[in-house]
Amino acid sequence: MTDVVVVGAGISGAASAYELARRGFRVTLLDRYSPAAMASGWTLAGVRQSGRHPAELPLATAAVQRWAGLADELEGETRYRRNGNLRLARTAEEVPVIRSLVEQQSAAGLDVALLTDTADIQAVAPAVSDRVMAASWCPSDGSADPRATVLSYVAAAQRLGVEMRFGEQVRRIETVEGHVTGIATDAGMIAASHVVVCAGIFGNELLEPLGLAVPLQVPMVTVLRSVPMPAALGPVIGVANADCAGRQEVDGRFRVTSGLETWHGDIDHDGPRPAVRPTMRSIAEVVRLFGEVVPAFKDARMDETWAGLIDLTPDGLPVIDSPAGLDGLTVAMGFSGHGFCLGPVTGTIVADLVETRRTPFPITPFALDRFTDRKQVAFEPLSLHG
Ligand SMILES: Cc1cc2nc3c(=O)[nH]c(=O)nc-3n(C[C@H](O)[C@H](O)[C@H](O)COP(=O)(O)OP(=O)(O)OC[C@H]3O[C@@H](n4cnc5c(N)ncnc54)[C@H](O)[C@@H]3O)c2cc1C
Repeated sequence: MTDVVVVGAGISGAASAYELARRGFRVTLLDRYSPAAMASGWTLAGVRQSGRHPAELPLATAAVQRWAGLADELEGETRYRRNGNLRLARTAEEVPVIRSLVEQQSAAGLDVALLTDTADIQAVAPAVSDRVMAASWCPSDGSADPRATVLSYVAAAQRLGVEMRFGEQVRRIETVEGHVTGIATDAGMIAASHVVVCAGIFGNELLEPLGLAVPLQVPMVTVLRSVPMPAALGPVIGVANADCAGRQEVDGRFRVTSGLETWHGDIDHDGPRPAVRPTMRSIAEVVRLFGEVVPAFKDARMDETWAGLIDLTPDGLPVIDSPAGLDGLTVAMGFSGHGFCLGPVTGTIVADLVETRRTPFPITPFALDRFTDRKQVAFEPLSLHG
């Protein structure tokens, strides 16, 4: 018997299943592939508050507090490191962008500083080029290992009794007279009084038959991962216009991303997880752009490249909501390129919503109905991800 079915074993779904099980719910976690098969495996996995939309900042701050003890709590690995985040201005035009970001976020209570001296920037990250003109510095930001974290959530949830069903696709959410009654999968039916949709870019396949939808665009991001290199870079590096970002992993591999690119819909579903291929031109551009700000990266030999897809909403904010009018449905998707950091808090909010339809977190900006009144939903340009 299951009380709650969670669809999607990325960080949002895995954390939700874990939190629900801690509260005594009988939970089934399903994924059409495997844990961390999509965005939660493709990600850069920065754990940052800096550069956040004001609506997300309280969640990001709560998440960062939670990340510190997460590995112990889950009795697994997260490889979380609080090594800070530097967002760089490479030109005179980018300096005011970074300055205004720091002013806004300091006013919102975040401990973030503007560094305008190369020596100050290189004091926290000696590997950064001396051509960089200024940077925001948030010492409490960091990063984690995305796959290890999701697997730790899955293992912890399993120990709490969550039933895992991987390689099984949910086809439909079943309802009767305004109440969720379960799901139909490609292997059969599962009865449940609550369904949580954490299905990333595929979430609308399940919502649309219910008359619901999260307006999404799906751009792609090129990701490069090098072979292990000597330790050179502690903080996560971003840039003012978000055309590249990167960090060095615990074992010395650089993990570096492009800005948003157009995705033309090609995706290979044949392997253990879906694969999207980046273009050679984009790979070369990432090497050039990140190499300009971290010269050591120019010498790195690449081990892997892939492209990740982003579930981008018009305002760049997620939907975390139990929509009115249908009893037993909770949605957590549309994280728009920055949902990895939020995962631990997303799980808590989802569990709150399933349990009582309420949460102490300020989630009004993440309501699904913010889109429903507008016929035409205009997408705002997303300036930051990662
Ligand atoms: C290149 C890149 C860089 C990023 N950098 C950062 C960063 O630095 N910091 C940050 O915080 N965030 C970052 N993000 C965003 C972050 O990774 C995502 O927001 C987050 O991982 C989303 O997790 P999720 O669980 O909501 O979705 P996903 O990880 O996409 O999980 C959805 C899951 O649902 C499953 N699924 C879908 N449909 C079905 C179905 N019908 N039946 C069964 N299963 C189904 C899929 O197989 C998938 O495993 C980045 C993303 C990308 C792509």
